[in-house]
Amino acid sequence: MIRHETLNPPPHIYPVNAWKIIETAFYPRFLAQTETLFAVGNGYLGLRGSFEEGRPTFQNGTFINGFHETWPIVYGEKAFGFARTGQTMLNVADAKVIKLYVDDEPFYLPTASLQIYERTLDMQAGTLDREILWETPSGKRVLIESRRMVSLTQRHLATISYQVTVLNEDAPLVISSEIVGDQSNQAGVKDPRQSQGFAHKVLVPHKHFSRKGRLVLSHRVQTSGMNIACGVDHAIETECPYTLESQCGEDQGRVTISVAARAGKPVQLFKYITYHTSRGGAAPEELCVRSERALERAGQQGFPSLLAEQRAYLDDFWYRADIEIEGDPDKTRRPAGEMQQALRWNLFQILQASARAEGTGIPAKGLTGQTYEGHYFWDTEIYVLPFLTYTSPRIARNLLRFRHSMLDRARERAREVNQVGALFPWRTINGEEASAYYAAGTAQYHINADIMFALRKYSEITDDKALLFNEGAEMLVETARLWLDLGFFSERQEGRFCIHSVTGPDEYTTVVNNNAFTNLMARENLWYAAETVRFMRENFPEHYATLVHKTALLDSEPDDWQRAADRMFIPYDEQLGIHPQDDSFLDREVWDLKNTPRDKFPLLLYHHPLVIYRHQVIKQADVVLAMFLLGDEFTHEQKKRNFNYYDPLTTGDSSLSACIQAIVAAEIGDVEKALKYARYAVLMDLADVGGNVKDGCHIASMGGTWMVAVYGFAGMRDFDGRLSFDPRLPEMMRRLRFALALQGQRLEVEITRKQASYRLAAGTGLRLTHRGEEVNLQPGETVARPVDHA
Ligand code: BGC
Repeated sequence: MIRHETLNPPPHIYPVNAWKIIETAFYPRFLAQTETLFAVGNGYLGLRGSFEEGRPTFQNGTFINGFHETWPIVYGEKAFGFARTGQTMLNVADAKVIKLYVDDEPFYLPTASLQIYERTLDMQAGTLDREILWETPSGKRVLIESRRMVSLTQRHLATISYQVTVLNEDAPLVISSEIVGDQSNQAGVKDPRQSQGFAHKVLVPHKHFSRKGRLVLSHRVQTSGMNIACGVDHAIETECPYTLESQCGEDQGRVTISVAARAGKPVQLFKYITYHTSRGGAAPEELCVRSERALERAGQQGFPSLLAEQRAYLDDFWYRADIEIEGDPDKTRRPAGEMQQALRWNLFQILQASARAEGTGIPAKGLTGQTYEGHYFWDTEIYVLPFLTYTSPRIARNLLRFRHSMLDRARERAREVNQVGALFPWRTINGEEASAYYAAGTAQYHINADIMFALRKYSEITDDKALLFNEGAEMLVETARLWLDLGFFSERQEGRFCIHSVTGPDEYTTVVNNNAFTNLMARENLWYAAETVRFMRENFPEHYATLVHKTALLDSEPDDWQRAADRMFIPYDEQLGIHPQDDSFLDREVWDLKNTPRDKFPLLLYHHPLVIYRHQVIKQADVVLAMFLLGDEFTHEQKKRNFNYYDPLTTGDSSLSACIQAIVAAEIGDVEKALKYARYAVLMDLADVGGNVKDGCHIASMGGTWMVAVYGFAGMRDFDGRLSFDPRLPEMMRRLRFALALQGQRLEVEITRKQASYRLAAGTGLRLTHRGEEVNLQPGETVARPVDHA
């Protein structure tokens, strides 16, 4: 259902523009939101969209993916096997600060007289630009043009171009370019989803120095022992005379440029920023050396060349990843351009969260906020990897390899919860389980199957056998072992394989027996493990031998997994003709959603968990998600009945829900409802539908919006590696276009109201089905088929 009043998201405040988000006036009341909306990042480094001046700010966040502090989780009442160590991604030194003084008057946005104000996130250029014309109290007209970017090509680099021109008079001008090391990582929040923070100073100063416009300072994280160095360097171009002074303390550094500015003569500053981190292996001194090298190189390359590099990277990204939507102005009051813009921004944010996430995961909020402590969840595998696998397989591969790097800790975790095999953490940064709440957290064993599901999709779509054999198979063996050990053949269920006391995706129903989603996904995991291992044994004996060596695999194991999978208990209620979410779900009282006041959502912030758990009320798609992921295991009628049963119980209190409901609504033929959910998901952050975009982007939902277009409106499915399409555009849409990368080939799909056309732009040949009819595409060939949009 998703509270109906919010199903009509308000239009966002930004002018419709296909490639840009433009803020045309300075709105102090949107300060917090815009820090998220104008964030820039590359998956390693993320800068919230705070102003160069450093003030005003809501949270001046600078985040490095995976750079965290650890802390002992304190329980009022302890129990065996509870997670012990919390992990929090840290807010590190802010190096983008540039303060400006004209006639010794500081430039301060809230009080400045602004003749021009425009801030633009340019998704093709990969820059955040700002143009300001400030009239000082003494009548000087000061043009400030800045451009900020976090490099997608150079992982450790960010740069700022900052140009000041006093247009009408000569004036003394001071630019103070700073690093502010002592950022807040303080506690004091009430929302349990936000970061818990620290009462003490977590970043302990280490080496620091300055020389001729260059500042470098380093810190060690108190308990986790991680190290970081941050360095900045400057280049100045101006005809005006100036002096430069540098100083650096342990937590703060400053380069002061004092200029005798002449009327109309620009003062151009380029600031190069670099961050280097280590888990503890490389000492701060070494990181300082790396920083200097990076600064040296960036300075030599220069800003224009870095900008060109960024543009080329993004040209390539959009060529692979763009989705074009053309609306029908007669059929909608709301411009389709708004949806186009928001969709692109969503995809851009995923790129910013993942592009250089090498050796790390994708935090739930990307690098735009500390909410959820910067943890990695199943969000990555189920919501983001489909997009990446079909458009940037290299990034998808890195993320799966990263999961594999956690396998030993997952093995340890399985021991801690008294199982064999491996259990991946529900939430983590360093591979250890960091969820302190087992009911809605660690009991979500489905994480194992989610990761294996993504592995399977990746392997089928890319045909990357190397990853499957080297890393994937080992994870398959260990996850299959866990399922076999966790469940049992129940006599009371005629020897069916049951899995008890787990939590499915819906966190409003916890610790249940036979959660349908979990059982279905575990079955898939067990089948795929058995199939892969047998395939390797028969066809790739060397790889198989290595696998046996790594896992002590017995010949008999795949048969055991197969037996459990074949006999998996899948709850089904004959009377209602639906799949109960779990064994006891239908026995619960139905929550009265209609009479729940609007201001009492999300329910988790206003009710004791047990009150919620006692009811039929759903936080996010659960059975409905299973019907999408494993759609070939349900009949069309079952899908309809399930959807009609669960949709009215779903609050959408999790942002992970709307996109999935949109896809399934489209599949069962309710395309207009699909559109409503789609709009909700697509505009979730840009229109701040949930009211919490200030805390960061909803990365999973953003990945979900790509899925809505491709799996929802284009009706694509990819069961068992077979590609099929059954397009169903909503009325307001005239055209939908996107491209997919499959086994190194490029498929271009275009759907209009009359036809669907499939073009194999690069490759050797591709087979797909369109509404059940087989299509064999030759290289360069376009095949069009009629579509009847009733
Ligand atoms: C959702 C989880 C999700 C987490 C992080 C929670 O609110 O219920 O499914 O993994 O947020 O996005």
